[in-house]
Amino acid sequence: MSIRGKTVIIVIAIVLVITASTLGAGLFMSQYRFMKTVQSDLLTMSRIASSMLSAEIRRLRQEVEFAAMLVSIDQEDSQKTLQQLTERFPDFLSFSVFNREGYGSLHAGQNDPRPTIRHRDSVYGQRALAGETVLTTTMDTTSGNMVMYIWTPVDKNRVLAASLPGMYLSKFVSQFRIWETGSVFVLDHEGVTIAAVWEFRVRERHNYIEWGKRDPQYRQIGKVFKEIIEHDEGFGRYPLDGQERYCAYNVIHGTDNWSIGVAAMINESPLAHIQQMLFIFAVVFLGLGTIAALIAANSIAIPYEKMEELTRHAEAASESKSRFLANMSHEMRTPLNAIIGLSELELGDTNLEGDNFTNMEKIYAAGMTLLGIINDLLDISKIESGKFTMIPVVYDLASMINDTVNLNIVRIGSKPVQFRLHLDGTLPSRLKGDELRVKQIFNNLLSNAFKYTDSGFVDWTISCKKEGDKVKVNSTIRDTGIGIRKDDQAKLFKDYYQANLKANYYVEGTGLGLSITSNLVKLMGGSITVKSDYGRGSAFTVEFFQIPAGEDLIGSEVAANLSEFRYSDQRRRRNQKLVRADMSYAAVLVVDDVVTNLDVTRGMLKPYGIAVDCVTSGQEAINRIRGGKVKYNAVFMDHMMPGMDGIEAVSIIRNEINTDYAKTVPIIALTANALLGNDSLFLEKGFQAFLSKPIDILRLDNILNQWVRDKKQERSQPSRADAGPGKAPSLLAGLNIPELNSAEAIIRFGNDEESYLRVLRSFMLYTPGFIENIKALDSDNPESLAGDGSTRGSLEAYRVSVHSIKGSGRGIGAEKLGNEAEKLEYATVNKDLGFIKTNTGHLVETTEKLIADIAAFLKTVKSDTYTEKPEKESPDPEIRNAILHACEQYDMGALKKAVAGLAAYRYRSCPDLAEWLQDQTGRSNFEAIRKRMMAIG
Ligand code: ADP
Repeated sequence: MSIRGKTVIIVIAIVLVITASTLGAGLFMSQYRFMKTVQSDLLTMSRIASSMLSAEIRRLRQEVEFAAMLVSIDQEDSQKTLQQLTERFPDFLSFSVFNREGYGSLHAGQNDPRPTIRHRDSVYGQRALAGETVLTTTMDTTSGNMVMYIWTPVDKNRVLAASLPGMYLSKFVSQFRIWETGSVFVLDHEGVTIAAVWEFRVRERHNYIEWGKRDPQYRQIGKVFKEIIEHDEGFGRYPLDGQERYCAYNVIHGTDNWSIGVAAMINESPLAHIQQMLFIFAVVFLGLGTIAALIAANSIAIPYEKMEELTRHAEAASESKSRFLANMSHEMRTPLNAIIGLSELELGDTNLEGDNFTNMEKIYAAGMTLLGIINDLLDISKIESGKFTMIPVVYDLASMINDTVNLNIVRIGSKPVQFRLHLDGTLPSRLKGDELRVKQIFNNLLSNAFKYTDSGFVDWTISCKKEGDKVKVNSTIRDTGIGIRKDDQAKLFKDYYQANLKANYYVEGTGLGLSITSNLVKLMGGSITVKSDYGRGSAFTVEFFQIPAGEDLIGSEVAANLSEFRYSDQRRRRNQKLVRADMSYAAVLVVDDVVTNLDVTRGMLKPYGIAVDCVTSGQEAINRIRGGKVKYNAVFMDHMMPGMDGIEAVSIIRNEINTDYAKTVPIIALTANALLGNDSLFLEKGFQAFLSKPIDILRLDNILNQWVRDKKQERSQPSRADAGPGKAPSLLAGLNIPELNSAEAIIRFGNDEESYLRVLRSFMLYTPGFIENIKALDSDNPESLAGDGSTRGSLEAYRVSVHSIKGSGRGIGAEKLGNEAEKLEYATVNKDLGFIKTNTGHLVETTEKLIADIAAFLKTVKSDTYTEKPEKESPDPEIRNAILHACEQYDMGALKKAVAGLAAYRYRSCPDLAEWLQDQTGRSNFEAIRKRMMAIG
């Protein structure tokens, strides 16, 4: 919904709520007040009506009493007097005189109604004889009309009855009108309506009290009417004919407990009118409010719409900034690839001397600086666009620290700055997290500390604490450098912010490092803080979370070694240190549209002895693969090329050339677009890996080791449909030992013949030791059998040996031998010396024969790895020291090189050493290697 729409709805909702609550409160208040007012007004009216009616009745009574006087005075001619009375008092219908017996003696006026005392009315006649003037209403039986009588005494024996029209009182009360249709009525002492605007009620002698007893619809009015006849004054409320009514009532003086009621419809009351007015006001308010809302919404919405527009613009701008950066980085990385790659190649050339070397170094360093800036810009743009993702791996904390220190310590140069590392052995050995980003955090902080410190020291403290299922890394980097002003401290973590510009004029930087660092620690759930004393130094503290990877601690020795690290200029010489494997058996195809890039890649592959073919387009690459003249071990494919790009070319190679070779040849993407950021995109598109430009020599080395090295045997497996011309004969061709089921055993090694050969060789080397233990057992001499596994001749040593032969025998495919050994192992457990005595001889014989056969076979195998090595008693002390040194420095390159040197010989004192070292090196077990090498000492 648009902002305008939202604003309209919100403002209207506000107007509605205000109107509704005002109305509600108004109605509630008015209801209460007006109830009171209406009640008292109706009561007043009722009182007025009551007193007016009393006055009228009094007048009528007086006229009748006066008439009676006239009759009593003029005894002789009463009839005549009566006649005159009808003329004198025209309100009356007739006058009649009754004697004590109740017979009408005289009558004048309209013939009917003519009262009689003998009937119901006699009570009134009697009361009149007793001296009272009484009012009655009655039905005239002959006419069926209502009649009202006033009885009064004439003398001791006679009474006068004057009749009035039944509707006389009704006519009188009709003059009262309350509100629109409200009226006054009169009830007699029984509740019968004797006067009302609605004459039929009178005529039909309505009695709501009686009706209320029978019909629930009249219950309420019946109840109120009962109150009317029982009380002198009051107020009630009841429904009648579907309308709510109020009723105030009073007793009428001068009657037999007659009452007058004033009834009016509630909805005609002023209250109702005011309520209606309130409603009308509310509707008007609402209408006005809505109009106001529309007007207000318009003006309120304007700034928001502007903001939205600005945001859209900003997003578009940021989007195009990202695109621009991605493109620029691509354009800049391509020439940088040449600058860094070629200068690195030159630096690797040991013939480079003097100025040439330093100039080349400067070119290399400048290229690296530029690359750093581009990477920072890309990081910031990725962070800003939310495209930044962490790639967690399990990493070695000691190596991470060592690498970071080595990378930065060169910055001290000739400055009198001391670097100190504070950590202890309780740090976890391994952590899981984005190692590269963790390094980046510390690199940024350490490089700043060194950059901005001219003398004194730089301290790096690291500690870890378990928090729930995570590890909280806390680290402070403190320096005695130029420090940062208070004002600047708060702004440090903003993009492109550089403090103290004047003083740092000659120091290179972009002002992005701390912003990236702060974003990185935030992405890792942490924070960064700075404390600084201007002119004295600064301390940056970061806290962030990693995931624990195992319980191992780095231990106090490693901690001490790391803390006492020695400066080693690893970076400059790193390409010299790199031990490049010989891969002269391999051939690769490099595809790139930029010829300089082809030169760089070719130059980098040269030291490996790899044959390199180059083409400059995807189509040419497809043609080469389809032709299949040379079966490449791998293809390096540029991502962005004019015309057909790398992804398209790979898709064609994988899906359209229908050979196993095209489907499986490893293809490595070369990309200058670092914004893409991770392998998954390329893996999905049929690539095996990717290398970003400028090509990093170490990463290239990894990829070659993974995808090119030692693949020649695999590519020439006889089982493969695509055996190709360079097919090598199977290493196991000459293997024919009846005891061995090699075909089955090799499956366990993933058909890796070399691995199988390695195991055969270790069987050949180690099994004789076990045979010796087995032979040493003297089963005829039970006393000699005591002792543990290390006691020669003991039953336990025997058991350990047959157990080992069981396992290793089955491992190489000597199933029968394994079973034999197993039976003997059972026998040792059951102390069945008889069985042992009978069967040991055969086991020894078979095993020795097998060892001899394997040795004979291995001599015939032509493999770099498994041709027999020259023997020595023990490793040279130089190699041993080189290994120890590399371990202390956590220098993997140096370690690999030293181990390779050591593995060139076989050592009689420790035949398994080379293999063990290779295994441990693969696992970065610096500590274990160091311990074992110390022991060899
Ligand atoms: P730059 O690339 O400029 O070093 P940073 O974001 O890493 O960018 O640092 C921003 C600014 O913070 C620097 O320009 C510098 O003025 C100041 N600064 C950072 N670290 C330190 C430090 N350890 N001592 C003094 N000033 C520092």
